[in-house]
Amino acid sequence: VFTAQAVAAAPEDPLFGLMKAYREDPAENKVDLGIGAYRDDNAKPWILPVVKKADNAIHNDPTLNHEYLSIGGLPEFTAAAQKLIVGSDSPAIREKRICSLQTISGTGAVHLGGLFLSKFHPNKPSLYLSSPTWANHHQIFTNVGLTLGNYPYFSKETKGLDFDGMLQAIQGAPAGSVILLHACAHNPTGVDPTQEQWKQIATVMRQKNHFPFFDCAYQGFASGDLARDAWAIQYFVEQRFELCVAQSFAKNFGLYGERTGAFHFVSAPGADASNASAHIASQLAILQRSEISNPPAYGARIASRVLNDPALFKEWEADLRTMSGRIQEMRKGLRLRLEKRGTPGSWAHITDQIGMFSFTGLSEGQVKVLRDKWHVYMTKNGRISMAGLNSHNLDYFAEAVDSVVR
Ligand code: PMP
Repeated sequence: VFTAQAVAAAPEDPLFGLMKAYREDPAENKVDLGIGAYRDDNAKPWILPVVKKADNAIHNDPTLNHEYLSIGGLPEFTAAAQKLIVGSDSPAIREKRICSLQTISGTGAVHLGGLFLSKFHPNKPSLYLSSPTWANHHQIFTNVGLTLGNYPYFSKETKGLDFDGMLQAIQGAPAGSVILLHACAHNPTGVDPTQEQWKQIATVMRQKNHFPFFDCAYQGFASGDLARDAWAIQYFVEQRFELCVAQSFAKNFGLYGERTGAFHFVSAPGADASNASAHIASQLAILQRSEISNPPAYGARIASRVLNDPALFKEWEADLRTMSGRIQEMRKGLRLRLEKRGTPGSWAHITDQIGMFSFTGLSEGQVKVLRDKWHVYMTKNGRISMAGLNSHNLDYFAEAVDSVVR
């Protein structure tokens, strides 16, 4: 029988634990580099000006109410999200073989995809994750009963991609495995394959008949260019893969708490593709109904207004460049300061890496000293959120890193 007493305490979520410790630290010069959200140069949350505009328009719209959305979400949102991720002239859209549901942000999309594969894949495939990956991937896919494998990703020596290791592991995975790929701005390393490397990954995946599962949480936020950040996904679609995509609008719209995202399933081309796609959509709708019934409206309304209005869309692109540009400036600034100080080691990886996060190469011991002595908060694996750096704390952080590395 079930008894409450038999339930052991779960460990605290490491990232949320870190945030709490930071909040409770009274030091004035404390620095939060754990944070997975964009901050402006004053370390404050930033509401994108275009989001503010769309938000105001929604408030003033007398036709809106608080009714349920349909199971699949707001149709004008999912249609626009689809175009954004595969490209508006994608053969997948033209041939009606992509189906899309609005989800509880990227997390909900990853979960829906995992649940779908676990239920409908004929032989419960193994799902391969990069090592390391976003920690939540392990929990989400384990919870839906998929067996997990790993492929090497990060080279400690070069602080770049372990491309040979990655390719070999993908090659060695049982045929028909699911391979989870970060579309851009890999979390936690900030290391992405080049376009040439993506092509080789696609070649091996085709040989092995693997199924690509893209997780795209940073489109437009990584390079500032929406198309460039979705290049890998669009290349795989062009190469006629059957695949799925979890798409988050948390970072690129700053809609974190509004839980805005989408799940897309692209069926391989063929005479029956649009039929198959309709079947998949119908099954996804059943899963969605039992899990969340229907997704939340607010964030999707905001994103939809921006995505579907050419003038607002342009403003959004400018806002994306503001965020990605500031982050790139912080990367340059940090590298420059460390090199100027002659801090031991090479720091080129700080500017080679891309997106919100950087794998610094700092050890767990060094991270601890940074926290205890310098009030700098980051995850144990040496990952820093570039968004936590700004013109006011960059010198201080460089001094702190220099002191723990020596
Ligand atoms: N995947 C990855 C790789 C991420 O980094 C994130 C954000 N931390 C997500 C998915 C999902 O985030 P959200 O649910 O907030 O959209």
